[in-house]
Amino acid sequence: MAAILVAQDLSAVGGISLSAAVPVLTAMQYEVAALPTSLLSTHTSGYGKPAVVDLSSWLPAVFDHWTRADLQFDAALIGYVGSVQLCQQLTQYLSRQPLDLLVVDPVLGDLGELYSGFDQQYVEAMRDLVKTADVILPNVTEAALLTGRPYQPVPDLRATLTALQAGLKPGAHAVITDVTREDRIGCAWLDERGAVQFVGEPRLPGHYNGTGDTLAAAIAGLLGRGFSLTRSLELANQWMHLAVAETLAERRTDPRQGIALAQMLRAILSLN
Ligand code: ADP
Ligand code: MG
Repeated sequence: MAAILVAQDLSAVGGISLSAAVPVLTAMQYEVAALPTSLLSTHTSGYGKPAVVDLSSWLPAVFDHWTRADLQFDAALIGYVGSVQLCQQLTQYLSRQPLDLLVVDPVLGDLGELYSGFDQQYVEAMRDLVKTADVILPNVTEAALLTGRPYQPVPDLRATLTALQAGLKPGAHAVITDVTREDRIGCAWLDERGAVQFVGEPRLPGHYNGTGDTLAAAIAGLLGRGFSLTRSLELANQWMHLAVAETLAERRTDPRQGIALAQMLRAILSLN
């Protein structure tokens, strides 16, 4: 069994980020080290101001302990980090790990805006963090922030992806995750010849919390299991479509809860 470290926020209620990544990666037969980068009573969309615990003094102690305990990880997925210092601490810790795969979802903003609490210094820290990644999964907003290009809801994908690739190590891939093409939503990246590739599924009605986190967990899991980038993105998008369709079929009364995962987990288990 491969061991994967997942570092992102843990929101007790809302079914997103770490709460979604753990079941997805467990179903893919990973040993999951679930590292909360901050602790929240709920996620930050629709519940009012959550109770938050800043874990920035606990995290260095975690890395020290894990080093003494001689823990090793084969893969890592980094999502919401939250501070410049923690970006640096994570980079430092992971540089001492024999990772076969590092996937970074450079959580910075959405709809053209930085998330509240983040500034240009944080963007710089994220630029440093992505330099060590094998695959990065920015949305359109994060692609603009990382490259310093002006935000456009429908960007020039070739130019944006080329600029993103310039900030990565050789052989690494930038994948933009919320690309719309006609009635489809999915992912775009550059192939070996520098041509834009796209995979996606029909967009279903509504907006859902946690889709990006779940997508990132699925992509990291598939890549770590040896699937090609193209196949990983195809499968991950198909699974997300299942999850959104299941969420719609449930006719939920509380739209704040993240997406339903049962159908997606069934599809993942059928791979094993
Ligand atoms: P986030 O805003 O949480 O980062 P995205 O909007 O980038 O998430 O969505 C991530 C993925 O989730 C998409 O690439 C797609 O696979 C799936 N997805 C999100 N919204 C929908 C939708 N309305 N219909 C179908 N799939 C969706
Ligand atoms: Mg996202």
